[in-house]
Amino acid sequence: MASQTCFLGRCLCGLVRFEIRGEIGPFAYCHCTSCRRSSGTAFAANGPVRKSDLHWLSGHGQIGEFESSPGKFRAFCRGCGSPIYARLVADPDWFSVRLGLLDDAVPHTATAHFNVSEKANWHSVTDGLPQYSDDTTDSLIDPESEIP
Ligand SMILES: [Zn+2]
Ligand SMILES: [Zn+2]
Repeated sequence: MASQTCFLGRCLCGLVRFEIRGEIGPFAYCHCTSCRRSSGTAFAANGPVRKSDLHWLSGHGQIGEFESSPGKFRAFCRGCGSPIYARLVADPDWFSVRLGLLDDAVPHTATAHFNVSEKANWHSVTDGLPQYSDDTTDSLIDPESEIP
């Protein structure tokens, strides 16, 4: 069975609307401080999408960008503040789209938790997915050693 390759998304106020005509790549939940601040909650779910697959249906001019670290831009709707995507200047062919904006079901779930060393102390990860202290996969945290 072919996986779905068209996804509609929009911000909270509806000014910014887009369509992904292609695949959403594997993604992890990110618990880093920047993702927590920019989303206002415990972690972010950002799916890699090819820039060429991302089509703006409306509101592209309403998108603001904030450079949260050198060369990393986080985009948001100027009307409602919804986070839209993040992009790296060094990797111009890919956007990390905020998956909470999508109307359509995402065909796969997250593969891991990243940056759990910066995790909110009021959130407990209970899903059994691998947890990494940063955003590389070389840093697996031994769940046995984690203090509850
Ligand atoms: Zn909006
Ligand atoms: Zn993050």
